[in-house]
Amino acid sequence: MPFTDLGLSDKVLQAVSAAGYTEPTPIQAQAIPHVLARRDVLGIAQTGTGKTAAFTLPMLTLLESGRARARMPRTLILEPTRELAAQVEENFERYGTNHKLNVALIIGGVSFADQDAKLTRGTDVLIATPGRLLDHFERGKLLLTGVELLVIDEADRMLDMGFIPDIERIVKMVPFTRQTLFFSATMPPEIERLADMFLHNPERVEVARPASTAETIVQRLVATGSEGHTKRERLRRLIRGAEELKNGIIFCNRKRDVAQLQKSLVSHGFAAAALHGDMDQRARMAALDAFRSGEMPLLVASDVAARGLDIPAVSHVFNFDVPHHPEDYVHRIGRTGRAGRAGHAFTLVSRSDGRSLQAIEALIGQQIAWMDGDLASLPEESDEAEPRSRHRGGRSGGTERRTRGKGAGEARGESRPRRSGGQRERGESAPRAQESRTHEPRVHEPAARVAEASPPREMRAKERREPEGDTPIGLGSHVPAFLLRPAPVKKER
Ligand code: AMP
Repeated sequence: MPFTDLGLSDKVLQAVSAAGYTEPTPIQAQAIPHVLARRDVLGIAQTGTGKTAAFTLPMLTLLESGRARARMPRTLILEPTRELAAQVEENFERYGTNHKLNVALIIGGVSFADQDAKLTRGTDVLIATPGRLLDHFERGKLLLTGVELLVIDEADRMLDMGFIPDIERIVKMVPFTRQTLFFSATMPPEIERLADMFLHNPERVEVARPASTAETIVQRLVATGSEGHTKRERLRRLIRGAEELKNGIIFCNRKRDVAQLQKSLVSHGFAAAALHGDMDQRARMAALDAFRSGEMPLLVASDVAARGLDIPAVSHVFNFDVPHHPEDYVHRIGRTGRAGRAGHAFTLVSRSDGRSLQAIEALIGQQIAWMDGDLASLPEESDEAEPRSRHRGGRSGGTERRTRGKGAGEARGESRPRRSGGQRERGESAPRAQESRTHEPRVHEPAARVAEASPPREMRAKERREPEGDTPIGLGSHVPAFLLRPAPVKKER
């Protein structure tokens, strides 16, 4: 179906064709006519499906009639993270080039004054994260009684982040007669309840199974000891040996680990940026820009910060930790293999990750192949501190040599379907460690070689090389002069 059949205005159609899109994606084809007909929509779709344009394009068409009044936005889009909110704003800029609409971004980490000024001018589209929106409301700077259309995006992520009470408060401030568009990648019972509460007789549109992973992604598990430095060393070898690596996102479960891992990678000569929720907005944007532009080919990130980011061509995803929520696995690896491109997803797995891994495999309905031998092939001492020497050869080299020469099907790492989506009960056991599963010796180079190799040239940070090892390196006997300068101390009045 061409875009011209969806009922979008000429101005919007021109912008769509200027963006180079020829065909609507399935979520766009299904949702746009309902939005234009002023129906409520429940959209079950992940990022990467063209979901953002599924609401921005019809909103632009609807907004062509009417005018904004000061402090009374006409439409409101709620996003769980600042980055997602900024991406939606970019969509309005791209598709709204032929419109003269005022779009305001109300997110934390930037000045209230600029945001206030925008609200005062009158806003056609207000894109906000819940906390900052409520701050403005409480300061009496905002009235939501003029909102004709409300979008709640990434509802399941809002739930994960504890935003639901805020959302419920905000929805109460918006007129009952509004039109509501509600998007979520998954529909757990709590989200169903909210959808029932917020939507009036909605059209339900759904694309792809919520828990499906793209077939274009080669997924591999990598057995490792559970110590931080052992995992970091394993990750470095993985990156150095990865084929077709252009850029990659490395996910950690905890913000603290994001910062630590990024520093460690940089100290080993990799050009890596960090992205986590404790960074201020400017630093987050700078990290994202550096990653998007290729200046920093590696991005170490937490789930919340990276959720839904639109980074078109990520060749690799590395899970430094197995995510605790299986849905996060689907979202993480969904950063690669987008729009039919080939992608690679590697997950470091230690002995303590058994349950989380079971849950993931149950959710995606398939077993993920091991790259170089499963957990049973790890020597007992692998959870202990590894020798710091660069000439180890023992553990990993031995493991890799042992796994060579497996059967052809195993070598291709073919995954076997297990069950179609139904989630395994928490307590249900799966014979994991005993099962020697598939291997992919081609995926990286012999360990001895990669352990000695430096990062691929494109991954190398300029002027950043520091000695091997994760122990903090001090200044030795030399203290740079700038550290010895007396610090100016402000006098208390
Ligand atoms: P989203 O799911 O909104 O994050 O969009 C994912 C990517 O698909 C973005 O890079 C969009 O620019 C792109 N996109 C959106 N709609 C289309 C379309 N109809 N054809 C091709 N690409 C699209």
